[in-house]
Amino acid sequence: MIYFDNAATTWPKPIEVKKAIASALDEYGANPGRGSYDMALKTSRLIFETRVELAALFNIKKPERIIFTANDTEAINLALKGFLNPGDHVIFTSLEHNAIYRPLKALEKQGVSLTMVQAEPDGTVFPEMIARAMRNETTLLAVSHVSNVTGTILPIENFAQIVRPKNIKVLVDAAQSAGFLDIDVEKQGIDLLAFPGHKGLYGPTGIGGLYIGEGINLRPLKEGGTGSKSNSWEQPDTLPDRFESGTINTLGIAGLRAGIEFLKNKGIKKIREHEWNLTKKFLQGLAEVEQVVVYGPKADAFRAPVVSCNIRNCDPGEISFMLDKMFSIATRSGFHCAPLTHRTIGTKDSGTIRFSFGAFNTEKEIDVGLDAVKEIINKLEI
Ligand code: PMP
Repeated sequence: MIYFDNAATTWPKPIEVKKAIASALDEYGANPGRGSYDMALKTSRLIFETRVELAALFNIKKPERIIFTANDTEAINLALKGFLNPGDHVIFTSLEHNAIYRPLKALEKQGVSLTMVQAEPDGTVFPEMIARAMRNETTLLAVSHVSNVTGTILPIENFAQIVRPKNIKVLVDAAQSAGFLDIDVEKQGIDLLAFPGHKGLYGPTGIGGLYIGEGINLRPLKEGGTGSKSNSWEQPDTLPDRFESGTINTLGIAGLRAGIEFLKNKGIKKIREHEWNLTKKFLQGLAEVEQVVVYGPKADAFRAPVVSCNIRNCDPGEISFMLDKMFSIATRSGFHCAPLTHRTIGTKDSGTIRFSFGAFNTEKEIDVGLDAVKEIINKLEI
């Protein structure tokens, strides 16, 4: 199989990650933060060390301000529902994934007001548009770092420079950027950073996290046992316990730590260059096929390794099905959980076929992918 669905979750996982998860069952089998015997302490240490690794990766000063969640969506829900109050105003863009849009729409019913900044058809969002959307009641800018449909990279640092002086906090959804782009919460002015562990950080599914900036107090999404202050009926106010009730995903964290190790050993820059080269090659190949429409930034503009396209007059679902059945190429078709983006790029009724590349894809696979697209076009006589 050729796997071109890395924007959904990366596959395969590095061998180190597979081994780490398998051995975690034995090595870190205890419930962390509960017992004081050897294996429980060792398991707690694994979790602490993984927080430290993540903190180093994103230049976070206090590792305890990173909360483990089940995925990026849960992290975003914690940020939005924990932070926003009736009367607050939020700015977001028309590139947002439903992970941001749906919780915002739910919060709107509770008195939070919303302004959507319209992106250009190629995914560009002009910082001036963010500036124009600001109001006295604005408390949050919620924005994706990278569009999961077009691969467009948003200038989050510029956005932060505009809104933060007005005491507007910045929530960044790093679903498609963590592990691909350099992220520095201090330099880029990020107050809340939501990230999945299972995409560019190469951990398994079921793990993600939220960084909560200094001075931000969130309401927890859930209360319960934390292994700390157990005699009190109040949820502890110390971090990370305040937000991590219930038994934590130790296997996921063991895999995530190995994923970060893999990134460090290979080098994020090297992986980024590799994925960008594959993306460029693919875009150049598609540009030669007149029946293909590619969405997003111009072909030579730097973007994340996500390419959305359509074949003229064809249903993307049918093409994705043919790629799978005839060539064993895994792609994703449809709306990619981002209906606003499809309204932006002009594919609101059809969606797109999405090819997304990862560290393990090769140039050879790109060639096979391009040939497959051409063969399908021939077969369908388009
Ligand atoms: N935001 C964006 C931009 C995404 O691409 C995704 C994953 N498709 C998510 C949020 C949700 O991530 P998760 O599946 O880890 O909740």
